[in-house]
Amino acid sequence: MSTLSKQLTTVLSQIEQAASAAHRDKHEIKLLAVSKTKPVAQIKAAYAAGQRLFGENYVQEGIEKIQALSQDADIVEPIEWHFIGPLQSNKTKPVAEHFNWVQSIDRLKIAQRLNDQRPEHLAPLNICLQVNISGEASKSGTTLSQVIELASQVSALPRLKLRGIMAIPQATDDENILNDSFQQLHRLYLQLQQTYPDIDTLSMGMSGDMIPAIANGSSMVRVGTAIFGARDYSA
Ligand SMILES: *Cc1c(COP(=O)(O)O)cnc(C)c1O
Repeated sequence: MSTLSKQLTTVLSQIEQAASAAHRDKHEIKLLAVSKTKPVAQIKAAYAAGQRLFGENYVQEGIEKIQALSQDADIVEPIEWHFIGPLQSNKTKPVAEHFNWVQSIDRLKIAQRLNDQRPEHLAPLNICLQVNISGEASKSGTTLSQVIELASQVSALPRLKLRGIMAIPQATDDENILNDSFQQLHRLYLQLQQTYPDIDTLSMGMSGDMIPAIANGSSMVRVGTAIFGARDYSA
């Protein structure tokens, strides 16, 4: 087995163990492989090992990979592409045209543009609202107090499908702070589900904190480093 497929297998078994420890079915937790900065060859290796969900942070880099793999004879089953990075309004069009999901929506203007630019022949674009849980001014994401209103605005856009929320909690070694953030997100997720029963995605947990995220109800972990190794350039 290649290093990459070993690392992927390790991550999948960690997800399974974390699910089992939390008395959850492992199928409730999806693995998004975050391939930012990594070459197409590594995405193909992960695909060959069974991975189908990939996340990218940069518009140009992501589109190039999507286009390359859409013409690759080795790729026979569809790949689900998630855009998870900051998105500026002048870059929404290629994202609306090429990605299946955008997880980093934190304002209505971007959502409206994606809605208007989503091509007719494609299914609605799946959306997660990014929540700035730690209230850090430097972080992107909508505040807890604004998320309910943003959800109601986004859910009214016909070419978008509201699937849930995404968050990147403050990096900390303090398990109490981390668990508290994950629990707040889980409560918000359940609250939104009351109004929008189709919501099924609580995207939280990365290489360093996917186990406590799963313990606190995550339905999608976004894992880069633990699968692909350290990033090829600073990201
Ligand atoms: C880079 C990134 C990840 C993956 O982080 P790792 O620590 O490498 O697993 C997850 N989510 C987002 C939004 C990212 O930008």
